Amino acid sequence: MSGYTCNPRYSTPSPDVLRKLELSRLEAEKVRTREMRCPFCGFLLRIIPVTQTDIVFVKCRKCKFDGALSPAYFRRIRHCRSNRMQWEEL
Ligand SMILES: [Zn+2]
Repeated sequence: MSGYTCNPRYSTPSPDVLRKLELSRLEAEKVRTREMRCPFCGFLLRIIPVTQTDIVFVKCRKCKFDGALSPAYFRRIRHCRSNRMQWEEL
């Protein structure tokens, strides 16, 4: 398996699955991503595409929070202060 880490006790997937993995990896390189963090403890839950708006079902490995998060609500606005200043100038 090239570029993937997996427990060695599992056998190598079939060539068809390896081809799909490689295609997925190539597609993923083009996607801009962001981190989705736990709303309670801030632990990194998942890396998601910035365009994703669908509900994500997550379980936090640190605080054991188990539930659904909407990326639309749990979005961090970067450079908030500079964005606000731009809006006030308009
Ligand atoms: Zn947590």
